[in-house]
Order: sequence, then C-alpha cells, then structure tokens
Amino acid sequence: PNDQFEPDPSKKTLVILGSGWGSVALLKKLDTENYNVIVVSPRNFFLFTPLLPSCTTGYIEHRSIMEPIRNILRHKKAAVKYYEAEATKVDYQNKKVHVKDDSDVKGDTMETEIEFDMLVVGVGAENATFGIPGVKEHSCFLKEVGDAQKIRKKIMDCVETALFKGQSEDEVKRLLHMVVVGGGPTGVEFAGELQDYFQEDLLKWMPQIKGSFRVTLVEALPNVLPMFSKQLVDYTESSFKEEHIDIRTKTMVKNVTDKTIEASVTLPDGTKQTEIIPYGLLVWATGNAVRPVVKDLMGQIPAQKDERRGLKVNEYLVVKGTENIWAVGDCAIANYAPTAQVAAQEGAFLARLFNTMAKTDAIETELQELSEKQATAKADDRNHILDLISERQKQLRRTRQVGPFQYSHQGSLAYIGAEKAVADVSWFSGNFASGGTMTYIFWKSAYLSMCFSSRNRILVMMDWIKSRMFGRDVSRE
Ligand code: FAD
Ligand code: NAD
Repeated sequence: PNDQFEPDPSKKTLVILGSGWGSVALLKKLDTENYNVIVVSPRNFFLFTPLLPSCTTGYIEHRSIMEPIRNILRHKKAAVKYYEAEATKVDYQNKKVHVKDDSDVKGDTMETEIEFDMLVVGVGAENATFGIPGVKEHSCFLKEVGDAQKIRKKIMDCVETALFKGQSEDEVKRLLHMVVVGGGPTGVEFAGELQDYFQEDLLKWMPQIKGSFRVTLVEALPNVLPMFSKQLVDYTESSFKEEHIDIRTKTMVKNVTDKTIEASVTLPDGTKQTEIIPYGLLVWATGNAVRPVVKDLMGQIPAQKDERRGLKVNEYLVVKGTENIWAVGDCAIANYAPTAQVAAQEGAFLARLFNTMAKTDAIETELQELSEKQATAKADDRNHILDLISERQKQLRRTRQVGPFQYSHQGSLAYIGAEKAVADVSWFSGNFASGGTMTYIFWKSAYLSMCFSSRNRILVMMDWIKSRMFGRDVSRE
C-alpha cells in the first residue's frame, strides 16, 4: 500500500522524525489508517544498536542488524509516506518541518517543507565531545553502521602498518595501542569485543603483535559502568584485568591530536597530573549531546528555555509548552536513562495514545451528529437516538482512559568480553545481579529475541556460527 499514499484531507497529518528505537516502536503499533502518516529520516533502516559493538570486529556483519524502513512500513494497513531526508528545522508556529535530502546523488529538488498537524520528534542524540579539541577530527565514534565499519577498517590499518618493514619499536607500540575513551556501556562493550578479536583471531594470524597490542579504557570517574551495581562494577574491573584490558579511571581527556591524547589524571593523594598517551586507534564513547534541530526547536518554545539536555516532555510525552508535538527516546527528557528500552516503550505508548485519540475523535464527531439529529427528530426516533448517544458517551469514557506513560525497567545488560556479561535484572519485583558465562548465554538469547525481525535473528545466529567456525574476517575492506 505504500505506493498508494494519498493524503486524506479529513484526517490529521502525523509527521514522525527518525527511524530509530522510539519512532519504529511507534510505527509498529500505530493504526496508520487513522492519520496521514509521513516519516522523515536520513537513515532508511532501523538499527539494532545493542549488537553494534560486535560489528566493529566483524563478529557480526552490520547488515544482520539493519531492517529496511520500507520493509517495516509495507506491513502497515494504510500507506505511510517515507522521505529519506534530515529535518533541518521545525517551524513550530507555522506547523512545518524543513527537510533536506543529503544524499550523494543530487536531484533537482533537495530541500522542501512538510506541514503537520501532529509531530513526533524521535531523532535521537549525537555524540558528546564537550568541545574537546581534536575529538571530531581524530577519533572514531560508535553510534551508526558507518562508525563500526570505520573502526573495523582502522583496526586492520593499525595492525598492518605496525607490521610494515622498518617500523620503529615505539611506533609499533603506538600503532597497536587501542584507546577507548568513556567507561559507559558503549566503551566497555567495545573494549571487550576488541580484546576478543585480538585473542581469538589477530594473534592467530599475526603472532608477532603479541606484547605490543593493548586495549586501554579511559574513564574520568572513579569507576566504569556507573549505572550498574557496585558488585558488577567490581566484577567487570577484575574481569578486564584478567583479559589484560587496562582500565584508567579518574583520567579525563582534555585534548586530542592525531597520535596522542592528553589527559588529566587524579592521583591517589588527590593531586592532578597531565599525561600524554600515544594511540593508534581512538574510539570516543562519552555519551550523548543534543542534535542541532532539537536545540533550535527548544529555542522556539519559552517553556523549554531552562533545559539543556533535550526536549522536556510531560507524562504523556507531549513537549512542554506545545500541544501538538511529542518527543521520544534520547532527544526527550523524561527522567529516564537514554536507552533503547526507554525509547521503545515510549514509542509503543505513543502508538496506544494516538490510536485512542483517533477513536475518541471519531466518537466525538458521531456524538455531534447524533445530537444535531436528535434536535430535529420525530418523537419515535428520538428515544432511539438518545440510547445511541448514551452508548457512545460510555464508549468515550472508556477510550479516554489512557493513563500517563510509565516506564517498566527490565534491567541492564552488558557484554564485557571473554564470553562474559553482566546483568542487573528486575524480575517479579526482585533484583538480580549476575556476571559470568551463564550471564553471557542469557545476554545472547535476550538480544537474539529482541532483534527486530526473524530475518535479523537468523542472520545474527548465522554470523555467530560463522565466526566460531572460521574466525572473524581479518581482511581490510
Ligand atoms: P536512535 O535509535 O538513535 O534513532 C534516531 C533516528 O533519528 C535515526 O534513524 C536517525 O537517522 C534519525 N535522525 C537523526 N537526525 C535526524 C534529523 N535531523 N531528522 C530526522 N531524523 C533524524 N540501549 C539499551 O537499552 N540497551 C543496549 O544494549 C544498548 N546498546 C547500545 C549500543 C551502542 C553501541 C549504542 C550507540 C547505543 C546503545 N543503546 C542501548 C542506546 C540506544 O541505542 C539508544 O538509547 C536508542 O537508540 C535511542 O533511540 P532513539 O529512537 O531516541 O534514537
Ligand atoms: P555514557 O554516558 O553511559 O558514558 C560515558 C562515560 O564517558 C561516562 O562514564 C563519563 O564519565 C565518561 N567521560 C565523559 N567525558 C570524558 C572524558 N573527557 N574523558 C574520560 N571519560 C569521559 O555513554 P555510552 O556508554 O555511550 O551510553 C550512552 C547511553 O546508551 C547510556 O544511557 C547507556 O545506558 C546506553 N547504552 C546501553 C548499553 C547497554 O545497556 N548494554 C550499551 C550501550 C549504550
């Protein structure tokens, strides 16, 4: 039906920005026949981010965790329009979104405007760099498929260049020093995957890098994984020690050049010392920052002026200070952590809300018509119409009962390398903290079951089997 998208003037136009966890969860459950639905996102696929760190080493192929947006939309009852473009500005007053097609192939029209009655902002966040000089120019991020591909290529570049004839010992050490900045789950999972790659594959093919290849995780705070319990933080740190991953806590990076990072290290006596650390690969994973389009929208709404972290929303995910704009996921500030789990639940909540709103609108229109009819009806018909009105009013009361959004936390899971994972899980109102190989099996099955489609699930499973049987592919693409 996607080809037959024809906006119906009797329906409201719902514009959804983004094709990530929040927007796709909304699209999955939305009854699209109630609205003219338009989706705008520069990425024409959904990305299953929890398995992205595995793509950096080729343990999983990136295509296995991508689901084309067209495939998602094609199963909807009513047609949905999709534009591969970036929203550059939301014009709140005039209810318009300015969009720009940023693709390499240039058409005659690359920019346009889309009008909306209702807007959902689900554009996620960009990588935080805190304005630290050199980060954007010299480091790799880990948020998108392209980032994982770049890292995969760069790891091999560093290894092959280190093995070049005549390379000095110091230069070999620098090239094979893999530095990860940010001890949140992204940094920890990537460090674990990278050390696995080294232990299980690189060493086999290039034994001469033993002794020079090192993974270092740099964290400004006194410990890694701040959202996990103390017991699991300790477990992760001791496990990293066993795996020979160096953790440098209380070390804040202040400056980055093409070959070194400069960090301020807090010593046990509380004094600070500046250290220059040479690196070959630098992966920057220090969390989220607000996207420019969101910042601009915040600037247009007086109720948002004191917020810096994103769009403040109320308990129905309505952007505070507006009536027709909602926000989900990492760009929404609702006192939850910026996770896929939160974004997906918020998206599903909005779908329920919009489905109900459409039903309520339809009943209200019918009630209006019935009361007009009733005023001019003959006595015989009037009783029947009054019965109908009472029936519809009851229906209206029932459908209006959508409570506010309530997040249900299922727990936190993270892979820490060497076939071990940590899990803080809440089940049956109890909390369980576990770490180790059994948790790794749980981690694997949990993420497999969460994959977007059966196709993704099968592809991921095949990748795992393939890597086990033949090892990861060490050729540089
Ligand atoms: P996203 O999923 O980032 O989607 C944003 C969408 O908006 C994208 O489609 C993007 O292309 C689009 N977009 C961007 N700019 C514009 C624009 N200007 N106009 C229109 N569209 C735009 N969370 C967990 O709960 N568990 C995990 O295990 C986990 N693992 C992670 C691993 C990694 C490596 C990373 C990076 C994150 C992980 N997260 C995890 C966090 C999780 O991915 C995010 O919280 C989640 O993606 C947020 O969903 P979202 O819909 O807000 O944004
Ligand atoms: P994060 O915000 O969780 O962690 C970033 C870390 O970088 C912080 O600990 C911070 O102290 C550190 N940092 C900041 N600036 C620094 C500097 N200059 N020098 C050294 N360290 C510095 O970021 P993330 O790991 O990218 O995660 C982002 C979000 O995605 C989080 O909400 C996280 O829970 C979620 N996520 C979850 C999972 C999972 O559940 N397995 C995996 C990845 C991401």
